[in-house]
Amino acid sequence: MDAKEFREFGKAAVDFIADYLENIRDDEVLPNVEPGYLLDLLPTEMPEEPESWREVLGDINRVIKPGITHWQSPNMHAYYPTSTSYPSIVGEMLASGFGIIGFSWICSPACTELEVVVMDWLAKFLKLPQHFQHASDGPGGGVIQGSASEAVLVAVLAAREQAVVSYRESHPEVSESEVRGRLVAYSSDQSNSCIEKAGVLAAMPIRLLPAGEDFVLRGETLRQAIQEDVTAGRIPVICIATLGTTGTCAYDDIETLSAVCEEFKVWLHVDAAYAGGAFALDECSDLRKGLDRVDSLNFNLHKFMLVNFDCSAMWLRDANKVVDSFNVDRIYLKHKHEGQSQIPDFRHWQIPLGRRFRALKVWITFRTLGAEGLRNHVRQHIELAKQFEQLVVKDSRFEMVAPRALGLVCFRPKGGNEITTQLLQRLMDRKKIYMVKAEHAGRQFLRFVVCGMGTKESDIEFAWTEIESQLTGLQEEQSLLARKSGNMADLTQHFQIHLTTENATHEKSQ
Ligand code: PLP
Repeated sequence: MDAKEFREFGKAAVDFIADYLENIRDDEVLPNVEPGYLLDLLPTEMPEEPESWREVLGDINRVIKPGITHWQSPNMHAYYPTSTSYPSIVGEMLASGFGIIGFSWICSPACTELEVVVMDWLAKFLKLPQHFQHASDGPGGGVIQGSASEAVLVAVLAAREQAVVSYRESHPEVSESEVRGRLVAYSSDQSNSCIEKAGVLAAMPIRLLPAGEDFVLRGETLRQAIQEDVTAGRIPVICIATLGTTGTCAYDDIETLSAVCEEFKVWLHVDAAYAGGAFALDECSDLRKGLDRVDSLNFNLHKFMLVNFDCSAMWLRDANKVVDSFNVDRIYLKHKHEGQSQIPDFRHWQIPLGRRFRALKVWITFRTLGAEGLRNHVRQHIELAKQFEQLVVKDSRFEMVAPRALGLVCFRPKGGNEITTQLLQRLMDRKKIYMVKAEHAGRQFLRFVVCGMGTKESDIEFAWTEIESQLTGLQEEQSLLARKSGNMADLTQHFQIHLTTENATHEKSQ
């Protein structure tokens, strides 16, 4: 493909994307295909001869789009939002155009330095403590990871290496392998699955401590667990708290957790993958309480900041702790400016060597929407969730399961897990809206999350009508069944009486 053809293909692709996003309400949010649908449609070998891009673009419409779950649809209410925006899409395109790998400053100075700039912009926008900024006097700073899972893993691995070094300094008689075998980490039973996975990958058990009835992990629970472990000779390493749990968007108590972590010299990481966007709002300032005492935190721009996947911001109070843990060098990776403050080599802050130019899409998005545009976006999601909450509260057939938090409403039809499952199944079969279930203390419930591009009040009304009318349908079916089984019972009783009378007459006549 030459530049001329690229221009044609690229322009057609931009038109395709704009048409797709503009008309996204026309498609059901869930695809109507069965497993293996695409395997049956595509050849098993790649084409020997080049094909025209027009044919390929045609096939995107014909075979790919039917198998797409429309995450940007306003009728998407599952998981948490995965945001995108036109500026971010253009940023992604330009980054691909440059085609760089920015693992060290010299590999593309703009890649590293733009990341430093946007991470400091973001830290200020979210009103994070000053020590998280690259521009601060200390060793703190921010980096863009691919996902919250990677950010958590980086924190867990760095904390583990720090703990091994510091324990061996004070206990040189204990072998390194023994120290490693005694390490332990903590999180809540409400935390995301990626935290348990980080423990598996880091070969360190993570104790999932019980969050209370209100889904919140507090310092007292952590203290008890740490004390048990210390008594048993284990070495506490890190606690991963969550601000905005996946199930109910609950906020762990960072102030009491940080006090315990400081007392026992345990690393405190905060996973604010979704809720971090609300740090920017004055009306949500309570969420930031205690953040001045945490060692690291992450927030997914690809959830709440209109930047498309993948883009997960991570800040470290002391980046040297990560760099020292991960620093593996080769002569071909060296350059004359390395080690200078203000010019990090981000390869030491992450798992892979290569790194994408993600800062470009962040910069373009922030500049074209502005801080006010970003704040409005978060506020809009909160307002729409409030609208949905009102509809739930007004309908006596439903109950709230947890307080609404940001753009998430947790609710269920009254009557238990069975009806909740049946209702969700009906909604999934109809494919008009997409939600998922969660569970706490044996109670299953539905999670309604405001997602999608340009979601409006009318979209929330549409979703609510779909949910409540399907519950009506389900209840009608159930009462019909109950009536039928009541009739059957009447009929059986009638026959039993009849048979008994007949038998009695028969016995008498004998
Ligand atoms: N943490 C929380 C609280 C989440 O809700 C999620 C995903 O929804 C994650 C972590 C995982 O995010 P990622 O897919 O970026 O690894």
